[in-house]
Amino acid sequence: SVAKVYRDACEKRPQEYWDYEQGVTIEWGKISYYEIISKIGRGKYSEVFSGKSVLNNQPCVIKVLKPVKMKKIYRELKILTNLTGGPNVIGLLDIVQDPGSKIPALIFEEVKNVEFRALYPTFKSNDIQYYFTQLLIALDYCHSMGIMHRDVKPQNVMIDPSEKKLRLIDWGLAEFYHPGVDYNVRVASRYHKGPELLVNLNQYDYSLDLWSVGCMLAAIIFKREPFFKGSTNADQLIKIAAVLGTKPLLAYLEKYGLKLPSEYDNLMRDFTTKPWSTFITDETPLAVPEIVDLVDNLLRYDHQERLTAKEAIEHPYFKTKFD
Ligand code: ATP
Repeated sequence: SVAKVYRDACEKRPQEYWDYEQGVTIEWGKISYYEIISKIGRGKYSEVFSGKSVLNNQPCVIKVLKPVKMKKIYRELKILTNLTGGPNVIGLLDIVQDPGSKIPALIFEEVKNVEFRALYPTFKSNDIQYYFTQLLIALDYCHSMGIMHRDVKPQNVMIDPSEKKLRLIDWGLAEFYHPGVDYNVRVASRYHKGPELLVNLNQYDYSLDLWSVGCMLAAIIFKREPFFKGSTNADQLIKIAAVLGTKPLLAYLEKYGLKLPSEYDNLMRDFTTKPWSTFITDETPLAVPEIVDLVDNLLRYDHQERLTAKEAIEHPYFKTKFD
């Protein structure tokens, strides 16, 4: 299975663009130019600080990588240098090196992010239209550059509502897309993992990111955060099947010559497809028909059936006027 769009985005560019295996050339900045102010987050792969540049007093975010395989570090650096400056992609300002550990720290533009659990409940239709268009623009851009993000989730979408600014962050799991290549299915975080990852379909592509967008949208409009809340990876697929149904899951597997992995033997049941209307109540005014149709066209088992980022931007929902 190969991507519907941007199939040769990497191959049409020089090898240095996508080949990070031999290492990458880095123009190191000076660590003494940056000052740490406070800790703002810790991820699996990094510690993140708010800081400032002592040269111009500009605020910044300092992401100190944890010691992982050099190959993973090279990949994140290569992808960030390729994408920085693109629409709604977090801006990489500098790369510096800790003199002791030699581990790189990435210096980013700072986004005054409002936590999604506080922000999303304030969204009106206009806000969903605006911010999801911005997110889809970022995704269409990275896909057009031959890169799948592979970890789209609310925690990686920074939004500063006072400036109506959205930035897609955390390119640590992102990867270059090459047609016909087998990819690791251990990517994305559980609630936003696409079915392809849960059934071990290795030849996935950019469309993985559109599933994650569908999960984010469904959570907001149906007021169910997260929308698919699995307790394990296997349970994640059960939660998906409980909505999309078991029959279309089996048809999906059949189409790609796969079998339901044995871990599901005692777990999968024969779920019927739940119409989206069953999630609509008096408390879900955002779930208008146009956006439900958009979600329906993103949350498809078959990654080839999902809208692409560009198709999603063009969906009638984004052209509907709300007040
Ligand atoms: P994870 O293990 O969650 O994938 P990570 O180690 O890959 O995390 P990031 O996701 O890049 O690290 O950053 C961790 C957290 O730091 C983010 O969830 C966010 O809260 C904060 N953060 C990162 N970059 C920025 C930024 N540019 N502006 C504001 N906050 C940021």
